[in-house]
Amino acid sequence: MVTNNNSISSKILNPETKIFPSFSTPQDKFSDSCIENSQEQITLLAAAVHSSHDSIVITTTELDYPGPEIVFVNQAFTRMTGYSSQEVMGKTPRILQGPNTDRKVFQDLKEKLRNGQVFFGEAINYRKDGTEFYNQWHIEPIKNSLGEVTHYLAIQRDVTDKINGEKKLIHDAFHDSLTGLHNRAWFLQALQDSLAKANEYQDYIFGLLFLDLDGFKLINDTLGHSVGDIFLQEVAQRIQNSIRSQDKLARLGGDEFIIIIEDVKDLSIVSEISHNIQTALQQPLMLGSQEIFTSGSIGITLSTMGYETGEEMVRDADLAMYRAKSLGKSRSAIFNKTMHKVAVKRLNLEQDLRKALEKEQFELYYQPIILVNNQSIAGFECLLRWHHPQQGFISPAGFIPLAEEMGLIVEIGQWVLRQACIQSRLWQTLIPNRSLFMNVNLSPRQLKQSNLVHHVDQILQETQCDRHLIKLEITESAILETDDKADIMLNELKELGVKLCIDDFGTGYSSLSRLYKFPIDTLKIDACFIRAIGKHERKEKILKTIVNLAHNLDMEVVAEGVETEAQFVKVKEYKCEYIQGYLFGKPVSSQDIEKSLKGKY
Ligand code: C2E
Ligand code: MG
Ligand code: MG
Repeated sequence: MVTNNNSISSKILNPETKIFPSFSTPQDKFSDSCIENSQEQITLLAAAVHSSHDSIVITTTELDYPGPEIVFVNQAFTRMTGYSSQEVMGKTPRILQGPNTDRKVFQDLKEKLRNGQVFFGEAINYRKDGTEFYNQWHIEPIKNSLGEVTHYLAIQRDVTDKINGEKKLIHDAFHDSLTGLHNRAWFLQALQDSLAKANEYQDYIFGLLFLDLDGFKLINDTLGHSVGDIFLQEVAQRIQNSIRSQDKLARLGGDEFIIIIEDVKDLSIVSEISHNIQTALQQPLMLGSQEIFTSGSIGITLSTMGYETGEEMVRDADLAMYRAKSLGKSRSAIFNKTMHKVAVKRLNLEQDLRKALEKEQFELYYQPIILVNNQSIAGFECLLRWHHPQQGFISPAGFIPLAEEMGLIVEIGQWVLRQACIQSRLWQTLIPNRSLFMNVNLSPRQLKQSNLVHHVDQILQETQCDRHLIKLEITESAILETDDKADIMLNELKELGVKLCIDDFGTGYSSLSRLYKFPIDTLKIDACFIRAIGKHERKEKILKTIVNLAHNLDMEVVAEGVETEAQFVKVKEYKCEYIQGYLFGKPVSSQDIEKSLKGKY
């Protein structure tokens, strides 16, 4: 226990001073009556100070160098700092300071204490073993009976866990937990700051790079999500290593990354960094025993385009990225105004497409499929047409991919099938002695619908058409995309009584050897093989081979896109059963078909 001429122990242990838990009691409550307290009470309070959970330090009052001397510390202080009471006695509390201690706090501390005020503060301190901790202090001057400040009493607390917890919360709010990069929330703020700077200083230009990995979905789907995660971490590292320290990188989510290229003095730096990233991504990556190849498509935009909001800038970089993707893998594209116009046009088209069904702007055209032997009509393929109120006729190539992306194709596809079934039934009653089949295209997206079989069945029942005349056309790539479930689905469709046809055969990556397990009735050879007749000897040989293989697998063959007599002669020679092409008829309206049918049957 400390004993000096200020009778410190008796004063601080005065119950009236309420040292714990706060110093709220005014100093003027000290009185001589304290000294008269019973020894029992003093012992009790001394024990309380000693065993207090918070560390307690009492010092003298010299604020200037070399600072106050420690005259008392309790056991909690020893636990917190590692210093025993004897080790610190007579020393200054500066022994707890070290290289990372923020000295600015002490200016405030001195000022407050000099004015007789209480000080609250916090700084990094060092234990005896040299480890850091966050120390929170509460220091109060202690006055004697004459009102003179004789000592300072400091209650200290190790708040390292609390501060680290707070730091982690702040870190997590602005970082991506998978890659450790900054996240979208952080990035949008950083972008807004950069934009504000660009709008203020004319010579400050920055670039924005929007990167999307090519084929990441495939990696995730085939190798699993945990491999996908490791892959993304590696990609993040590679991008980080390809940019300069002043550039800012964030992961927006999924396989999308975004980079602010800071202070662009010369535009070549933007393309250089973009090139560096692509080169880094192209290096093969070993995941276990698996070697993975990847690449990224990058969209670029610059602050010089006069953006007001970060969202606008991200949108344009994203548009440019889509442009880069459409150019092929591992490409980059810089945003320009034309892209913006294209995007606006697409947006308008999307809106119009949403209304096209209810506004009855769709119509089915029918193209005859001809039996090669006697050149009679064997059936039709129905092909969708859109009569746009302002733009007039829009071909399927102009809206089917869009409908596919928007998911609208499912609804449109059901309408097409219903119309085709109604039409088939009508022609069946019109020409009862002929069984003309009706080919209906199914989109890849429709094939992925788990309730497709149910919908088809419903439409067949509803329209009461002869289901054996309905032939569903599915592209080769659509089947392979659906892969493991494709054969179950196709078998279920077959069980409904409809026929199946592979469309555009030869354009995908498959081979007949992979397709043999699917219950396919007909194979439509893509028009590119027909166009090769008489022009590309090898391709023509492939055509001949495909026909033979299809026959071996009990499939009938349709040659698509026959335009000339010479092509017709050849496909006949190669023993294709059917042809479809402008030579025998373009797709026309149902009325036109009926007109031509009337004379024939
Ligand atoms: P597809 O299913 O392969 O249809 C054949 C396309 O080739 C049709 O184009 C047809 O008009 C065209 N064609 C036929 N014979 C010839 C010819 O001799 N020469 C030339 N140059 N072209 C010929 P269309 O009608 O523009 O349809 C294009 C594609 O749009 C279709 O290719 C199909 O993939 C898709 N499509 C059309 N209607 C529908 C539909 O109702 N649903 C879905 N999902 N897709 C459809
Ligand atoms: Mg087709
Ligand atoms: Mg086709």
